[in-house]
Amino acid sequence: MRDIVFIERDPYAPIRHCYTVSKILYQGKSPYQEIQVIESPEFGRMLILDGVVQLDEKYEFLYHEYLAHVPLHAHPNPRNVLIIGGGDGGTLREVLKHDVVERAVLVDIDKEVIEVSKKYLPTLSVGFNDPRAIVVNEDGYRYIQDYENEFDVIIVDSTDPVGFAHVLTTEDFFRYVYKALKEDGIFVAQTESIHYHLEMVRTIQQRLKKVFPIVDLYTSVIPIYAGYWWTFSIASKKYPVRSPVREVKVETKIYDADMHEYAFLPESFYNKLVNGEYKY
Ligand code: SAM
Repeated sequence: MRDIVFIERDPYAPIRHCYTVSKILYQGKSPYQEIQVIESPEFGRMLILDGVVQLDEKYEFLYHEYLAHVPLHAHPNPRNVLIIGGGDGGTLREVLKHDVVERAVLVDIDKEVIEVSKKYLPTLSVGFNDPRAIVVNEDGYRYIQDYENEFDVIIVDSTDPVGFAHVLTTEDFFRYVYKALKEDGIFVAQTESIHYHLEMVRTIQQRLKKVFPIVDLYTSVIPIYAGYWWTFSIASKKYPVRSPVREVKVETKIYDADMHEYAFLPESFYNKLVNGEYKY
């Protein structure tokens, strides 16, 4: 018998991943994107948006733990957190593991991603039932413009920066983020692959440097993302970010104080990467 396979159609990557499918659990189209949930014998359930795999149940922790816990542990008192995107709930779940968090606002443009995740991805969407979680369905670029001195940490957990997600990587957006953060706030965003999207990583870093005094980059290896070696751009108004400033008490699979420090690149390589001296 031949395998049923799903072939990714990632417009951004020079490679196509291909997964064996044991079951198609959901297929639909929202006003914003095509949404699918498939079951794979190796990776568990997978969320696919516009043909691009967003997450798999087996390895999602490698993305969500790094995206949430690095900025939250670099901040001494992150009580008020904003997540833009993240409709699957994985980042929200990690943010809410911090007892210090009093309020986590999740702004995803697409209500249907949240509904589908609640139904088919219960291990990710658990946080939506937490009374500290507030869900807003709006464009994050529009939402943030109404806030000033409001959030301790802002996290962008968006789809690839094409279409309606593109605005979340512009200098304008980073200026709105700066304004919406408190005077000691920290910002982080997933910023694609070091090798397949190096120019984009550099551009985002340069834009952030125009707005924030402290800008850095950390990485994680994510087995289902094109290029594997994935970047997170972090920007801070006041605190250095390379080490945790609070004791790590949250339960995780990989993140801890050592992995926080290990996630950052050596300064020499970071500088080469951002200045364009790293060529291949
Ligand atoms: N972990 C995933 C990744 O890195 O590929 C991201 C997953 S999460 C499902 C991405 C979410 O970002 C989607 O649900 C999408 O609707 C949302 N999104 C994209 N652009 C947005 C915008 N401008 N405002 C709010 N949400 C946005």
